[in-house]
Amino acid sequence: AKDKGRNNYQFYSVSLSAKNPELLTLEKSLRYALEREEFTVFYQPRVNIGTGEITGMEALLRWQHPEMGLVAPSVFIPLAEESGLIIAIGEWVLRTACMQNKTWQDSGLPPITMAVNLSLKQFRQPKLVEIITRVLEQTGLDAHFLELEIMETTAIEDLGFTRTVLEELKQMGVNISIDDFGTGHSSLSRLQLLPLHNLKIDQSFMRDLQPDSKVAHIIQAIVTLGHSLGLKLTAEGVETAEQLEFLKSINCEEVQGYFFYRPLPEQKATEILESKRPI
Ligand code: C2E
Ligand code: CA
Ligand code: CA
Ligand code: CA
Repeated sequence: AKDKGRNNYQFYSVSLSAKNPELLTLEKSLRYALEREEFTVFYQPRVNIGTGEITGMEALLRWQHPEMGLVAPSVFIPLAEESGLIIAIGEWVLRTACMQNKTWQDSGLPPITMAVNLSLKQFRQPKLVEIITRVLEQTGLDAHFLELEIMETTAIEDLGFTRTVLEELKQMGVNISIDDFGTGHSSLSRLQLLPLHNLKIDQSFMRDLQPDSKVAHIIQAIVTLGHSLGLKLTAEGVETAEQLEFLKSINCEEVQGYFFYRPLPEQKATEILESKRPI
């Protein structure tokens, strides 16, 4: 039986988990996490800099492991990605997030966008468009209130393929944003061929931001170039009033970060939206 087990794992010979027994254990429990209902989705508001309004939420997955407690996405998403579990988990996140947004709308709150992250494998699954169509139908959410975040590296891996898929999603009315922009060593001139709505400036830029520094000039250049291509700009990882002031001064329209809100559990997110409900 032992030999058989070893053979099975040869399949994973180059994987993260094969090199690290702790990760292998974690990957095994990840297989049961969906059916054991150990996942939840947190929601982090996106804020319009000019008006202070919440324009949308980003769905961020959380795994509450029965013994280990909260496991960070940076740990389990790569495991889910390499084991292929990300396909099922990702569909669950998509459905949960769309359902939540529909619930908010049905309770009379002003409509906002729900942003859902798609990993490389999710983006490349053959049935992606089919699954999104089905989830929108089942939850009754209008496609215009769904935004998909794909990383710059995912988008440029095969621009022809990316373009075909994104054109289909655009036809449906789904918005697309490029996540972690500025880290993927690509340029906007390559991405301009894609039907995009939004660029999210990676949070590493905020960390390094000093007045009049090189980073400040880079952020400004990204915003200017993004605008010239008709894109909306969202800055991630905004933690201070100084960062916010700078972003306002260069006409970046949206921010996401601890300065306004951390990712929130469903109930807290609902409370905040309710507290801002127009009379
Ligand atoms: P991301 O998509 O770039 O998400 C932003 C991350 O930055 C989140 O980390 C968020 O909690 C954190 N963050 C937000 N504001 C601030 C801030 O002001 N300062 C700092 N230091 N951090 C901030 P989180 O939730 O740990 O997620 C990490 C990554 O895991 C995400 O990065 C995303 O790539 C991935 N991820 C999370 N949920 C999902 C999911 O449902 N599907 C997929 N495929 N990936 C996901
Ligand atoms: Ca994201
Ligand atoms: Ca990001
Ligand atoms: Ca990131």
